[in-house]
Amino acid sequence: MNKVDYFIVGQGLAGTLLAAELLAAGKTVRIFDGGHEEAASAVAAGVINPITGRRLVKSWMIDELLPAAIKTYKKQESLLNKRFLYPALIHRTIHDPADENLWTTRCGYPDYAAYLSPDFIPGSPEGMGPVPSRGVVRHACRVDLPVFIRAWKAHFLGRQLLEINHFDYNDLKMDSDQVTYKDWTAKKIIFCEGYQIINNPWFNFVPMELAKGEVVILEIPGLALEAIYKTKLTFVPLGNDRYWVGATYEWEFENGRPTQIKKEELLEKIKKDLKMPFKVLDHQAAIRPTIKDRRPVLGTHPKESNILIFNGLGTKGASIGPYWARRMAHHLMDGGAFNETVDLARFC
Ligand SMILES: Cc1cc2nc3c(=O)[nH]c(=O)nc-3n(C[C@H](O)[C@H](O)[C@H](O)COP(=O)(O)OP(=O)(O)OC[C@H]3O[C@@H](n4cnc5c(N)ncnc54)[C@H](O)[C@@H]3O)c2cc1C
Repeated sequence: MNKVDYFIVGQGLAGTLLAAELLAAGKTVRIFDGGHEEAASAVAAGVINPITGRRLVKSWMIDELLPAAIKTYKKQESLLNKRFLYPALIHRTIHDPADENLWTTRCGYPDYAAYLSPDFIPGSPEGMGPVPSRGVVRHACRVDLPVFIRAWKAHFLGRQLLEINHFDYNDLKMDSDQVTYKDWTAKKIIFCEGYQIINNPWFNFVPMELAKGEVVILEIPGLALEAIYKTKLTFVPLGNDRYWVGATYEWEFENGRPTQIKKEELLEKIKKDLKMPFKVLDHQAAIRPTIKDRRPVLGTHPKESNILIFNGLGTKGASIGPYWARRMAHHLMDGGAFNETVDLARFC
């Protein structure tokens, strides 16, 4: 029988960050992933936006999450010798005096000042439809999540830590001090399955409110956006004239696959914003693992002490993930309770 400290199910953003923390602390892991086919992390723009929503509200815990995220991704870039963290500005379109007043009011709050520039940029960038002005959100970033996931996958495979296979719940055996899966044992297992947690017999009681999202990757020759551009849609420059543009939000859907109807909806909106010819390079969809109360979930199953969950990264995994992966790793190694806002116990 082969032995490791921890099994991790899912090599999306959550499972990858947790595995990286545990490995850095000298622990051994065996990771299982079905092949990323439905991974939200493979589709996400990976934008970290400190100020969100129509009301320009600071993202939950952003003052702590942002430095933790930057530190983690930078360290991982050096370890893997791969770039995936890009500092960015976000230009938000300002449409009327009410938008402008709200912006100016928020700029006056001391805890918002670092993130919002008080100066507006008049008009729109060349190639985009006319708008009165733009406000600049500072200290944003983009994490190229597909590159991040692939780089870590190669790293894990190279060290024989990752098994590309769907994890079969029926084959998990539990004893008081360990879990066994086929010919492997571990002290504990942590499920980081994204939206697929709804199929997990131990954690299907977590109240998910899944949000499907569809996006397109465009080639727009000559459009030179120097910042992420946020109208009703978000245009994220990827380099080489390529842009990630999205996303849709859907709370009722049949499956996680791209649909013609949403593609057309996106293209219609894009044509309202973009006044240049473009080519659709790709159309993708995935399901965001969002919990009803919009907070992550960490903790131990109420009856099975060796089975844990790390999930609920929702719409903001790029910022939430690194901080909470570290907390999860510390919990596994040293024990201690989680804050009740994120603790699985809030649903038990
Ligand atoms: C359209 C869209 C845009 C987004 N944009 C942003 C953004 O700009 N910024 C941001 O921060 N976040 C964004 N997100 C959210 C972000 O994608 C998620 O927060 C994050 O990727 C979730 O990571 P995860 O690891 O929990 O889940 P996932 O990435 O879904 O990974 C789960 C993994 O578990 C594996 N798995 C599940 N069950 C099993 C099993 N039984 N056996 C084996 N493997 C299994 C799957 O194969 C998958 O690889 C976006 C999401 C979408 C859909």
